Amino acid sequence: MQLALSDYSRGAELATALISTAPRVWHGVEKLTSAAEVDDLLAAHGFAGSCTPAELGDVRDLRAELRAIVDEIVDGEGVDAVVRRASTLATGGLTLGGGDRPDWVFGSDAGLVDGLAAVTGMGLLGAVRALGAQRFRACAAAFCEGAFVDVSRAGRRRYCMPDLCGNRVNVAAHRARRRSAG
Ligand SMILES: [Zn+2]
Repeated sequence: MQLALSDYSRGAELATALISTAPRVWHGVEKLTSAAEVDDLLAAHGFAGSCTPAELGDVRDLRAELRAIVDEIVDGEGVDAVVRRASTLATGGLTLGGGDRPDWVFGSDAGLVDGLAAVTGMGLLGAVRALGAQRFRACAAAFCEGAFVDVSRAGRRRYCMPDLCGNRVNVAAHRARRRSAG
């Protein structure tokens, strides 16, 4: 897995997607139960990678580390310390690539977990440096313990999984309005 420095937002989005599979976000239910699901998650974000069953535990450990980094920024911990932690993840396999448009490329094709750590670590690093710590947020849905990095242009994202948490909040608000109206 490799990712160009200029494309950090894809790495941050992948980090958010990975964080959003954790039992903490799903009221105790693990959403990353097989190596094939890791592959599906990567493919959904445009990355090629093949996870082995033996690597699944390491991917979950990486997910916990990414969540810890996001939480530290959300909680207002010093960004510098967080940047150091994300950098440790991101240092794998830094090379100059990009063909006609040379760019620093992070990642590794040697091992899935190393490549994933580099890509997501670089994503968090790029996001905090290019967009700022305020783009790291807890999910605004009261029932959700998710967290995410907002790499959208407008920067107004409120939910870790907009289709799910955002819709559930809208439905609840709609029901409340109907109750108060009726
Ligand atoms: Zn959420």
